[in-house]
Amino acid sequence: MLRNLLKKLVWKKSEQIKTKPLKKQSTPKESVKKLSSSTAPNRFLKFYHQNKSRLNVERRGSYKDRKAHGICVRCQKKSLPYIVFCEYHQRKQKSYNLKARMAQ
Ligand SMILES: [Zn+2]
Repeated sequence: MLRNLLKKLVWKKSEQIKTKPLKKQSTPKESVKKLSSSTAPNRFLKFYHQNKSRLNVERRGSYKDRKAHGICVRCQKKSLPYIVFCEYHQRKQKSYNLKARMAQ
């Protein structure tokens, strides 16, 4: 009796695993349909909108990793203490910030 019950449980679990990937496969197709020409004017933006959740996770992951290891987030050099940039990119960022403030 117990073996039969276990078999049933295992079978149910394996069935759930089988059904999960099918659901995942159906969602990207739905998102493709939802994309209108205003949100995806070209193939690059279309790709971005289709994969943005995955892309954002990857990007933020590498940013956090680099920040934690003291590596510049724009290149492979060592970053300054308490700053996410190296000396060169810190200088660059300062000029970008100045330009942005001038534009306002
Ligand atoms: Zn750098």
